[in-house]
Amino acid sequence: MIDSTIREPLYRELDRWHDAGRMARLWLRDDDAVEPTAALERLLSETKSYGIPVTLAVIPASTGEALAARLADEVHVGVAVHGWAHHNYAGPHEKKQELGGARPEEAILGELYEGFLKLKGLYPSHFLAMLVPPWNRIDNGLIRKLPALGFESLSTYGRIRGESPLAIVNSHVDLMDWHGTRGGRPAADLIGEVVAELQDRFNGRNEPIGILGHHLVHDAAAWDFLAEFFEATSGHPAVEWASAAALVQDQISRT
Ligand SMILES: [Zn+2]
Repeated sequence: MIDSTIREPLYRELDRWHDAGRMARLWLRDDDAVEPTAALERLLSETKSYGIPVTLAVIPASTGEALAARLADEVHVGVAVHGWAHHNYAGPHEKKQELGGARPEEAILGELYEGFLKLKGLYPSHFLAMLVPPWNRIDNGLIRKLPALGFESLSTYGRIRGESPLAIVNSHVDLMDWHGTRGGRPAADLIGEVVAELQDRFNGRNEPIGILGHHLVHDAAAWDFLAEFFEATSGHPAVEWASAAALVQDQISRT
C-alpha cells in the first residue's frame, strides 16, 4: 500500500495543476507480451477497471493468434511493435541492444518490417504503427528509416531531446528495479519521479508522462503500486490518462 505520506506530494503537485486549470497527461506502456498469461489478465483487468488505456509492446517473432484472440475485444488496449525477437546482439560489456550495432541496417530494417506487417495483420483494430525498441535502445541512423517502413511513432525512455522524423511518445517512470532487487521499485521513489516529471511539464514542456511496466515480472510491490497509482490518479480532475494513439495524433496534428 502507498501510505498517505507518499501520496501527499503527488496530490500537492496535482492540486497545483488543478488550481492553474491544467491537465496532466499520463499514459501507460507495458512491454514484452507474447501470449495470454495470468499476469496479463491482471494487467488487463486492473487497467480496464480504472478506465486506463494501455499500450502493449508485443514481441513479433514469438507471438501469434492466441494473444490476438485474447485482446480482440479489449478496446482499451493498443499494440505496438517491440523490435523483432528481443534478441541482444551487443557484446558482453555493452548495453543490451537489438536495433543497431554491427549488424547491417538492411537486416535490422527487414526484421522490423516483418514485425510491423505481422502485428498489423494480427491486430486489425488494435495496431499502432509505433516502434518500441527492446531495452529502449535504437541507433540514430535507423530512426530516420522508420517512416519508410510505415512507422508513425517511436517510444523509448526519457524526456524528448532534439528533432525526430516521426512522433515520439516516450516512457519516463520505470516501475522495475532491473539492476537491484529485480522487483518493483519503492513507491516513494516512483512517486518522487512522477512529481519531478510533473514539475518539468508544468513549466512548459508539452510532453505526456509515460509509466513503464513489464507485467510478466511484476512482483507484489509493482502490482500494488500500479493499483494505488491508478486509484490516486484516475479520478483526479487534473489528470488525463491518454491512449498512445491519441498522443501520436496530437503530435501529428501539431506539426
Ligand atoms: Zn522488452
